[in-house]
Amino acid sequence: MVHRALPLTTETQKGHRNTEKMRWTISVSLWISVFLWCGSLSAQPSPEWIRVAVSQSDPEVTLQVYGRFTMSALHTGEPIQQGRRLDSVAVRAVPQGLAVGEQVVPFFGVKIEPASDAAISLNGKRLRGTIEIVRQQNLTLLVINHVALEDYLRGVLSKEAPDYWPLESLKAIAIAARTYALYQRLTKTTSPFDVSGDVMSQDYGGKTAERANTTRAVKATRGLILTTNGALFPPFYHSTCGGKTEHARVMGPFNITPLRGGVVCTACSASPFYRWQRRLTKADVGWALRQSRHGSIGPILDMQVTKRTPTGRAETITIRGRNRDVALTGYEFRALFGFERIRSPQLTIQSHGDTFFIDGAGWGHGVGLCQWGAAELSRRGLSAREILAFYYPGATLTSVSELEATPIRVIDAGGR
Ligand SMILES: [Zn+2]
Repeated sequence: MVHRALPLTTETQKGHRNTEKMRWTISVSLWISVFLWCGSLSAQPSPEWIRVAVSQSDPEVTLQVYGRFTMSALHTGEPIQQGRRLDSVAVRAVPQGLAVGEQVVPFFGVKIEPASDAAISLNGKRLRGTIEIVRQQNLTLLVINHVALEDYLRGVLSKEAPDYWPLESLKAIAIAARTYALYQRLTKTTSPFDVSGDVMSQDYGGKTAERANTTRAVKATRGLILTTNGALFPPFYHSTCGGKTEHARVMGPFNITPLRGGVVCTACSASPFYRWQRRLTKADVGWALRQSRHGSIGPILDMQVTKRTPTGRAETITIRGRNRDVALTGYEFRALFGFERIRSPQLTIQSHGDTFFIDGAGWGHGVGLCQWGAAELSRRGLSAREILAFYYPGATLTSVSELEATPIRVIDAGGR
């Protein structure tokens, strides 16, 4: 999750009718078929599974299967290879299709399905579920891991939160992460995948990354999600708010009670990221701009926060150059210098001579649950339910199974 920056099938039974009026039966069957066909078009994707993009731009990946597997063409299902195991092999995008080791297969996509007791390793990382490798037009590979949602969360939680944090905080983060993933699954139906396996959605380490306590938290909250007025919403979370949470408008057109921010949180003061300092020289700023789409603006004269959000975070930062000015959003400013160097948009800038002194607070966008705060609240005895109520005021804790009777409603966020 961008620092720390959440989607059913309906089974329909077709009854048999035994009547002397054959034509009537045929007609009804036809209409049932049309109904089922339409239903399948509008059906929500299954909330039991998720599609994770584990590689999006590599020209080559290393694949290994520990145990029995089948490899087939993605769209036709045509068998390509089967075996007791697959030794480490390079899969490359080639003009004719895909090269699996020395063998060129004339398909633009392959599916690898391990037997139930087997596991896939991709670039040294063990993954649960199946994978699809697709050759993209620019001769890079898109690798999508189809994995059970609960298994996906085991590989996410251990990357998003330390295993040694108190259990109730891990449970709260597991519920937020599950809801976030499900939200992505139900709103990304036209995309080939639901989430990316990196920090742009939620960091995912697969089976390799799983840890005992984080897995315990996922299992203890199985199927639990958050809703607002019966609809799913994306419960953003982040490392450290630094004092007060931010309104979700910085993430998009989200104007719902649980994400309006302004939650005063001092519980994260033990976080190493609660306060931080950075120095940037005018030369650093000029260099960074020249490497970016903004280009040279001439020698740097000044850099100031020119607009703040109601919680005091930088909304606009203006950099004055001798030739022209550049106005950046807080997010763009962080992206320009790196999200690890400029940890949050909650900052002040003072200039002395050729140097800008930056005093910052928190790590991440500040929207929703503050992870360091959640850990401390858990130490003080709050339950996962209480922690979630604190950071997402007005949200309801429910389970996916309770929502399965009807298509799951998702908040309307301007098409996002
Ligand atoms: Zn906090």
